[in-house]
This record gives sequence, structure tokens and C-alpha cells, in this order.
Amino acid sequence: MIYRALTIAGSDSGGGAGIQADLKTFQELGTFGMSVITALTAQNTQGVHGVYPQSIEAVEAQLEAVLSDIGVDAVKTGMLFNAEIIEAVSKCLKKYGVERIVVDPVMVAKGGHALLHPEAVEAVRKHLIPLSMVITPNIPEAEVIIGEEGISSLADMKEAAKKIYNLGAKNVVLKGGHLSEEESTDVLYDGNEFTYFPVQRIQTKHTHGTGCTFASAIAAGLAKGLSVVEATKVAKEFITCAIEESLELGKGIGPTNHSA
Ligand code: PLP
Repeated sequence: MIYRALTIAGSDSGGGAGIQADLKTFQELGTFGMSVITALTAQNTQGVHGVYPQSIEAVEAQLEAVLSDIGVDAVKTGMLFNAEIIEAVSKCLKKYGVERIVVDPVMVAKGGHALLHPEAVEAVRKHLIPLSMVITPNIPEAEVIIGEEGISSLADMKEAAKKIYNLGAKNVVLKGGHLSEEESTDVLYDGNEFTYFPVQRIQTKHTHGTGCTFASAIAAGLAKGLSVVEATKVAKEFITCAIEESLELGKGIGPTNHSA
């Protein structure tokens, strides 16, 4: 059996996040990885040094090429950069009836560089969230999506997850890693009930690409036919190992280790 997983995201020349993290994760988790590149970034462990978005024509051509021939069992979207790319991607996924879509609503890199135009947030709400089978915001991203600041407890996270669900996501995995230094929890809301995934705080600064890796691991699970809860559980185990074994590369924040 071949499980087909597609990432629609930005390229990280440093190999730790974006398309490169996604493809490594797909491979490790036994799926056949494909990519649609929305933007190139000139990037290393010290940060993002340049962003070069691809034309709409290039994004559409990649999507058409993959979807019209190979097809997909699941899709992960990452850095989509602007409203035009979001609209083109959403239109094409709709056209091909893709259902197992994991949306990582990437906005800002850890170093502070914008990976999404602030004015494109409305396009995320309007076009992308309603298509998502799973959306995986961290707390700052959730605050931008719901337009409210101050998520500072598990109860706040649950409220925010409900609000994002009400925007049309079928499942919301709100990541708790930003909540406290000691212990926090990822929360999955499916419209009926909450499932909790405790976050183990691992003492390392080398966490580049964690969000990308986690979301693509969920997509790999969905491609293999796992339920959302099962796929999230496996992805959580995968990202925990990848952070535990993260790599001290370069002069800055090293990447998570996809083959840990
Ligand atoms: N670069 C690209 C292309 C990404 O898609 C992402 C994902 O969020 C990042 C960088 C973020 O990396 P970091 O984990 O360092 O914030």
C-alpha cells in the first residue's frame, strides 16, 4: 500500500522547517511525500534572511501536476505567505475534493520574521479554516485567528479552540507549548469533546521546525487512515522524540531531528 502525502509550504534552505521538515517527516512515517512550494526562504539556524514567494501560476501548476496525476491521501499546508496563494491553494483543493487537510497556520518564524502577510489572516479564516480537517495553531496564532489576546490557561485554550472550531475547522489542535515554562497541554477539540495531550517540556534551545514537523506527522497519520485522535497521538510521540534528539547544527537554533 502506498500512502500519498502532500505538503504545500515554504522551502527552508537550512533543512529544519518548512517543506524539508515535512518531507523528512513523511518519509520517516512511511508515506510517499510530495511538495508544492509556495515560497523560497533563504534561511539557516540563525534566522530567515530572505523570502521569495512563488507566482500564483507556479503554485497552481505544481498543484495541478500532482493532483491530476498522482493524487493525495492527505495534505498539509504550512507557510502560504499571502492571500492570493491562500485563495489559489483553497480553490484547487476544493476542485479535487481533498478532505484530509491539516492546516498549520504559520505566521511568524521563531526569529520574528513574518511568514504570512498580516492582511492575509482574513483569507486564512475565510478560505483555509473551513477546508481543514485539522488545524494546529500555537497560542499566538490562535490569538490572531480569533482576534483576542490573553490566552493564559487551559480554560482559555478550550474557549479559543471552540471559537476556531466555529470558524469551520473540523478539529482544532491548540498547542500549549507557549503557556508556561513548567508544564502545559495540547488540546484537541472535535466539536463534541476535548482530548488532552500533555506537553513534556524538554530543555533544549534547538526547536527549529517543531510546528511544521508536528503538523506533517498528523497529515502522515491521516494519509495512512488513522483517526484524528490517533494521528495526533502518534505525531505527539514523534515530535517529542525529534525534540529530545534535536541537532546542534549551525550557530543558532538547531533543528528537530526527524530520524530520531
Ligand atoms: N520557515 C518555514 C519555511 C516554515 O514553514 C516555518 C514553519 O513554521 C518556519 C520557518 C518556522 O520555523 P521555526 O520553527 O524556527 O519558527
